[in-house]
Amino acid sequence: MDRTLAADLARLPDLLEATRRTAADALAALDARPVVPRPPASPPHRPEPLPRHGSGTESALTAFADRWAPRLSASAGPRYLGFVTGGATPAALAGDWLTSVHDQNSNSALDGAGQDLERETVTWLRDLFGLSGAHTGTFVSGATMSNTTGLAIAREWLGERLGVSPSEDGAAALGPVRVLSGAPHSSIAKALSVLGLGRRSLVPVPTLPGREAVDPAALDRALAGTPGPAVVVANAGTVNTVDFDDLRAIAALRERHAFWLHTDAAFGAFAALSPDHAHLTAGLDASDSVCVDLHKWLNVPYDSAVQFTRRQDLQARVFQNAAAYLGPLGEHPDLVHLTPENSHRLRALAAWFTLRAYGREGHREIVERDIASARALGSSLEAAPVFRLLAPVRLNVVCFTLAEDPTPARLAALCEAAREEVFVTPTVYAGTPALRAAFSNWRTTQADVRRAAQALRTAAKGTA
Ligand SMILES: *Cc1c(COP(=O)(O)O)cnc(C)c1O
Repeated sequence: MDRTLAADLARLPDLLEATRRTAADALAALDARPVVPRPPASPPHRPEPLPRHGSGTESALTAFADRWAPRLSASAGPRYLGFVTGGATPAALAGDWLTSVHDQNSNSALDGAGQDLERETVTWLRDLFGLSGAHTGTFVSGATMSNTTGLAIAREWLGERLGVSPSEDGAAALGPVRVLSGAPHSSIAKALSVLGLGRRSLVPVPTLPGREAVDPAALDRALAGTPGPAVVVANAGTVNTVDFDDLRAIAALRERHAFWLHTDAAFGAFAALSPDHAHLTAGLDASDSVCVDLHKWLNVPYDSAVQFTRRQDLQARVFQNAAAYLGPLGEHPDLVHLTPENSHRLRALAAWFTLRAYGREGHREIVERDIASARALGSSLEAAPVFRLLAPVRLNVVCFTLAEDPTPARLAALCEAAREEVFVTPTVYAGTPALRAAFSNWRTTQADVRRAAQALRTAAKGTA
């Protein structure tokens, strides 16, 4: 064994303790440090050369603390409101550490109970979102991968209807495909590109006036004009204004038209936890496939999402990984046959930990506190003459812009000026350049909302 490696092995408990201290210090500093630090003024960073002889874990810890940690964002903290970004609850963090400690490849029954733990966690998540036992689920790395997996199953369903098998014969066997959606997330187009259906298969359907929710009557007409079976992507929580399609109205269209219903509920599914907002997800169970992200509002570390479907048989047709040593699929296929990945870490463990530690009530409280934070920031910005809200705060996102002259350059300057105190990200909504503040971190309090509002007002004055 390499001498440094052997020395590290001999002191492993000490090194874990040093790592624990580094972690605790980083977490304790989250509130005070810049949310997104400014890059150093010194010359641009050049990669350090690969060391010929290493100097061990302790020196790597020091080098990381000196050179990299201060330049990372505080995205684990309470005022990082860009994109839709969750943190990691204490239990989720513990679960994530132990995932690496056990270093499982939880993809088959040949080895340990990893995939049984994953299946138990999936049943908890199904319960959390009000899905019935007709849905099975698998863990994937994020909502993009969940959407891709759901649409891959949709592709196989189209083949079943048309008497061909895209998984055996290729997507071309289907001929032209139409994927109808009101305001789909950008990852849907990416998934269609990956799946050989093509970005152009995505057909936009009009939304309701002044909304991002699809117009069910327009969807009805679009389906009537579609030759052959189609795919509908319903949106349960758009990223700009967190608008929800009427999932029950869409599902009811199946009485007249044949289509696969995929619902992208990446973070909107968590509305099901709040009694005041659960109606937004009514009808979710009728979907043929559902995407939910976990590294957003469940507050587990990156990278984690779940993919639900009512047609695991089609899922296994797409993703089966035939190999002499893996055995037949059977009634409960091993996870290796269900997602694009073969090997994967015991990704479910962080979700298992946080659900086991805090339960439905603990996670309901996080969701409701974040919604209240979004509403409070919305009211505060609405009361400031420099700002204008572009949509009502429907759930956990505030979509706003400058009341006067909201050019992309001015908005970028505002973000830049505020970013050490609060981080928000740019967007364009209904043709207007805008900003989004998204609340999905378990740490955020009303005091953070006041700091964020103050920082945004100050930054806006600076750009006038
Ligand atoms: C975040 C998000 C995605 C993509 O999620 P990743 O985890 O970044 O892959 C897809 N759809 C919606 C609605 C999202 O909010």
